[in-house]
This record gives sequence, structure tokens and C-alpha cells, in this order.
Amino acid sequence: MIRFADGATVPPLGQGTWHLGEGERPRADEAAALRLGIDLGMTLIDTAEMYAEGGAEEVVADAIAGQRDRVFLVSKVYPHNATRRGTQAACERSLKRLRTDRIDLYLLHWRGATPLAETAAAFAALVASGKIIRWGVSNLAVDDLEELPDPADCAADQVLYNLEHRGPEFDLLPFCAAANMPVMAYSPVGQGGTLLRHKALATVAGRHDATPAQIAIAWTLRAPGVISIPKASDPAHVRANAAAALIVLGPDDLAELDAAFPPPRRQQGLDML
Ligand code: NAP
Repeated sequence: MIRFADGATVPPLGQGTWHLGEGERPRADEAAALRLGIDLGMTLIDTAEMYAEGGAEEVVADAIAGQRDRVFLVSKVYPHNATRRGTQAACERSLKRLRTDRIDLYLLHWRGATPLAETAAAFAALVASGKIIRWGVSNLAVDDLEELPDPADCAADQVLYNLEHRGPEFDLLPFCAAANMPVMAYSPVGQGGTLLRHKALATVAGRHDATPAQIAIAWTLRAPGVISIPKASDPAHVRANAAAALIVLGPDDLAELDAAFPPPRRQQGLDML
């Protein structure tokens, strides 16, 4: 389990929802895939007002109907809404679409023009009114986190982290570990792109009777304090991803992956999608 600074715990493997609600598949199938994931233990669901302009939150609402208390719900406010008043209004719209009375973790999606202190104050007011339980950020580098009025109030940072984007290992992961701040790794399977076709992943996958995607997920989970949130609408992918939580990579596997995807030797700018 991964523990937030306030003591709440979540499983290290959750589910993403980017591109849900866009009509790629019937909405009922997308909700069913999320429900399958919940049943398989991936009870943290990550969404955002941005995804399908609220459509993904509506799919999540269908998936969690009747089982809200089993789920740890994460959503995000657009930077252009992240003012004192705009944050409050955006949160209320998200709660309505999610058909719930609270969001467990509410994130600033990325840094925009609004001062971080103003967004932090808006989040604090939402915590006080019980509409959100805790707040965090996304796509913020260490120097951004240091600018927060009180970084200890920030529950999590969600960043692009997979074998092809290892920059956070140099400074962000150690900073967050020292602050008891879990890091959420987004796009852990590289959005199903070139990462999954890499030879090194295939070799390691062969050793574990697993797929490259499962190895990519298991690799993100090897880091302490990291929550991985793959998105999958194909039920076979959902099942495979849930099983990836059980794969333990050995020293040979990690050495092979390090050779193919070298760890960062110096500070790098934070990549984002
Ligand atoms: P991802 O999870 O790395 O990849 C999703 C893609 O990979 C989908 O096309 C999915 O296909 C496929 N896939 C999933 N599991 C697979 C498996 N076992 N084998 C083969 N293919 C598999 O990318 P992502 O959606 O960009 O990232 C995950 C989540 O992180 C998002 O959904 C979102 O919640 C969050 N995110 C946050 C930010 C941010 O700025 N904070 C940015 C990007 C993403 P099917 O759907 O067909 O199963």
C-alpha cells in the first residue's frame, strides 16, 4: 500500500481515464472496464475535468455508482480555472458529473498563470468544506513544489514517469520521498506506443511469462512511494495490468532495463504530455 502524509492508504496500482467518454467505445463498455479494474483491486481512479471535457468524469460516475466508498477518486482542475473562485466552481461541476459529494484527491493539472499560493488557498477552502479530502499537483518540478506556501500540505505530485521518461528519478522522487509525498506515474505503458515494442522489454517479459506492458507497469511500481495509473478500456488489458502488480523484477531485469533506458545522471526538465 502507498501511504499519504495524512495516513490514508491506497493500492500502488490505479486506473487512468484519459480519452474515456470520447466515443472510442460505448460508454457502458468503458464503465464496465473500470468496474472490472475495481473488482481486481485497482480502486484508485484518476480523472480530470479536461478529459472529454467532463465526459470521462461521467463514465467514472457510472463505474462507481453504488460503490463510491470502495474507490479513491482523483480529479484535476484546469490551470485556467485554478483561481480562488474558479477552483471552487470547477470542483462543484466535477462533483456533479462524478455524482458524488467528495473527491479524495484534487490536483492542479499543470502550472498556469494563477499564482500557486492562490490555488493552494482555494484547495484549502475546499478541504475545509469537505468537498475534497486532500489536494495535490501535477506536472510540477521540484522548484515549483518548493514555491508552494507549505509543501507539506500538498498530498501528491502526478508526473510523466516511465522507462522512456526517467528524469523524475534524479531529483523529484527523492524530494517527494523525503516529504512523504507519493508520486503518481502517468502514462506508465507509454500510451501503448514505441516503449512496448522495445527489445529489452520483450526479453524481460519472456523471463516472467508476461507482456511488455506488464513489465513497464511493474517497473514503475518498483520505486517506493510511486502510484502507477495505466489506462485500459480493453478488458484483457485491464486483467493484464492488475496482474502486473504481482511481478517483482530482479537485479538482472533491472540491469537490463537500465542498459536500454539509462537512468538520469543530471537534473532534467520535467517532460509532460
Ligand atoms: P498509458 O496508460 O501509458 O497508456 C494507455 C494506452 O495503452 C491505451 O491505448 C491502452 O489501450 C493501452 N494499454 C493499456 N494497458 C495495456 C496493456 N496491458 N497492453 C497493451 N496496451 C495497453 O497512457 P495514458 O492514458 O496517457 O496515462 C495513464 C493515465 O494517466 C491517463 O489515462 C490519465 O488518467 C493520467 N494522465 C495524466 C496526465 C497529467 O498531465 N496529469 C497526462 C497523461 C495521463 P486500451 O485503452 O485499448 O486498453
